[in-house]
Amino acid sequence: MNQLVNPELKQELLKYGLKEWNDCFHCGNCTAICSLTEQGFLFPRKGIRALQLGLKQSLAGSTDPWLCYYCGECTETCPRDANPAELMMSIRRYLTKVYDWTGLAGLFYRSKLALFIGFILVLIAVIAVGYVKHFETEALMKFGHLFEQLVILAVFGLILLPNIFHMFWLTIVKQKVKAPISAYITGIWHLIWNVFTQNRSLKCETGSFRWFEHFLIVIGYISLLFVTVFLNWFSTTNTIIIWLGYIVGGIVFVFTFHFIIGRLNKKREVTKYSHPSDWLFVIWLFLLGFTAFIVRVLIDTNLIDNNLWLYIIHLIVIAQWGILLVPFGKWTHFLYRSFAIYFAYLKKSALKRQGAI
Ligand code: SF4
Ligand code: SF4
Repeated sequence: MNQLVNPELKQELLKYGLKEWNDCFHCGNCTAICSLTEQGFLFPRKGIRALQLGLKQSLAGSTDPWLCYYCGECTETCPRDANPAELMMSIRRYLTKVYDWTGLAGLFYRSKLALFIGFILVLIAVIAVGYVKHFETEALMKFGHLFEQLVILAVFGLILLPNIFHMFWLTIVKQKVKAPISAYITGIWHLIWNVFTQNRSLKCETGSFRWFEHFLIVIGYISLLFVTVFLNWFSTTNTIIIWLGYIVGGIVFVFTFHFIIGRLNKKREVTKYSHPSDWLFVIWLFLLGFTAFIVRVLIDTNLIDNNLWLYIIHLIVIAQWGILLVPFGKWTHFLYRSFAIYFAYLKKSALKRQGAI
């Protein structure tokens, strides 16, 4: 396929956290050591080459960057200290901008000021709603519950779904991947299984504890969402739902706190370098679980009316998370990675059909 070489691509990637992009001399060590590569999906070296040559279309049409779980094994063994693991991470950040039709994902990655303004605007909007509702507990909680449902619908329907179709267009349609229809159906199982387990990362040698932590956070986060949004955790009197909420809320903030400590200690390859988007993700996820937990404690001890400001803080955290971080931040990596595994499955089926693997 003819591709337009874009000499500015490397410069653009610098805005997405890329550092060493010219040190790689293509020895292939990183690809050889990576436990997740396989025939037809040879990364990270292939992606680095596309980046160095400025092959924008090749990068945009590749699912490889999402198949990497950032274990850091390739970086540890790179003879040129080119940090291929972080390079793959920078490509993933860049790709979220490529898929996003609104342009906001790219803007927030490139400009801390724009993101800061976004956070402040959301904060002001929530306080304004509190003012309109006369800072009355029941009215604010009703609003909060309705707001959560509307944001989920709007973000998925208007932003994430079109972005996934765009990703499908770039990685499958434009690449002329001719997968059998049956693969589209059987691949759905891979998609669902990976959304919940992310079990491919178990192949990495960094150990199963990292996988287990991620697994608990994913399950905890999805369950917390379900309990608060669909089972109305803050208003229910059902003891089972209340305790379920405490457990999943606790899982989310305890494990994300452990992630924050890990990033501060910088002991493992994966935590040595943290982009601002990595910090925002773990801190806001922690705040989400922690403030939800505290609000429910205040409800159960009848102290919520005198401490409504804590519920307002929770609402601000939810609004910033739902409006800014879920559709445009690192949260999207979870979604795009799951779909990339589905699209890679289609590519693999097409390659098998052609007898290429
Ligand atoms: S990133 Fe490092 S290990 Fe990978 S091909 Fe380049 S020089 Fe070799
Ligand atoms: S960070 Fe791990 S999974 Fe990603 S390319 Fe390197 S070795 Fe493979």
